[in-house]
Amino acid sequence: MSRGALPGQTGGETASTSRDREPLLSVSDLRTVFYTERETIHAVDGISFDVHPGETVGLVGESGSGKSVTARSILGLVDEPGVIESGEIRFKGEDLVETGWDDARGDLAIVFQDPGNSLNPVYTVGNQLKEALSIHQGLTGAAATERAIELLEAVGIPDAPRRLEEYPHQFSGGMAQRAVIAIALACDPDLLVCDEPTTALDVTIQAQILDLLADLQREADLAILFITHDMGVIEETADRVNVIYAGDIVERAPTDRLFADPEHPYTEALLESIPGRTPPEKRLPTIEGEVPTPNGPAEACRFAPRCPLAVEECRTAVPDPVEVSTGVDHTAACVFAGDEGGQTGGENE
Ligand code: SF4
Repeated sequence: MSRGALPGQTGGETASTSRDREPLLSVSDLRTVFYTERETIHAVDGISFDVHPGETVGLVGESGSGKSVTARSILGLVDEPGVIESGEIRFKGEDLVETGWDDARGDLAIVFQDPGNSLNPVYTVGNQLKEALSIHQGLTGAAATERAIELLEAVGIPDAPRRLEEYPHQFSGGMAQRAVIAIALACDPDLLVCDEPTTALDVTIQAQILDLLADLQREADLAILFITHDMGVIEETADRVNVIYAGDIVERAPTDRLFADPEHPYTEALLESIPGRTPPEKRLPTIEGEVPTPNGPAEACRFAPRCPLAVEECRTAVPDPVEVSTGVDHTAACVFAGDEGGQTGGENE
């Protein structure tokens, strides 16, 4: 499959050098709350993380952990009754919570899970691409058509001039997600937020989309915030990982470090659920219970009801994130984090 470079953009630095630059996105103590008649849900409850230019940062956790609300908060897409209660979303140095998202719209883009919901069924893919190009780049007429063709080719859609005239239902799931990515790229973003972008696709197409995102990132120096429940996908895509549970980040580390030496029992449980990490004769473990709805301020470790290592201390205080090693940006919010050999890490070695 041939994939053209994004015209007008140059190849980027590697992720290892990207961290020498200022963060493109810096989220600090972000709190997004939903006020319903029944309860107040602290969906995002004080999370902080950075994304540097040209790197992929993973945000991983089970369904209901607050990943998508984080994504929508960053894009300024939180719907009522949700509200960003406090914290900063600093993008290119500007705090979007304070300034609003208008000036940043062209530099931020999102790809959602289901391309069927992202594309409008009554307009051709070309129309939708050209509308994005008109809004974000001011391109119309032949210039917009030419650029739309370039973008479809860049995301690996063959016979692009013809496909521009087709409607979303004429695209397969994988091709539709490529078209959604092309539309996201039409605003020439610096940061692409990918919210479970491959979950609705079969594994072969998933691998193609992940390869495509990696290629686009190299070609366009794109920063990617990759949100998923799938640790296998995180291992393939992310330079660094944030593990989120019940609205808060419980562990953060470079990807290879997290996979080799997890410190938080929740991370360990997520890793055990990856096919291939468990001996084939054993049943794939699952994490008993569900992510709790954070409907009040945290007063204990929220993972305690599901944690095999929980002790009394876990039920009486919220564990602070602890640096678990020097020289590596690796923190874990667990009373046992940083103990000799780790409570959880040794089992995987
Ligand atoms: S603080 Fe306690 S309950 Fe929470 S993850 Fe650590 S051991 Fe488990």
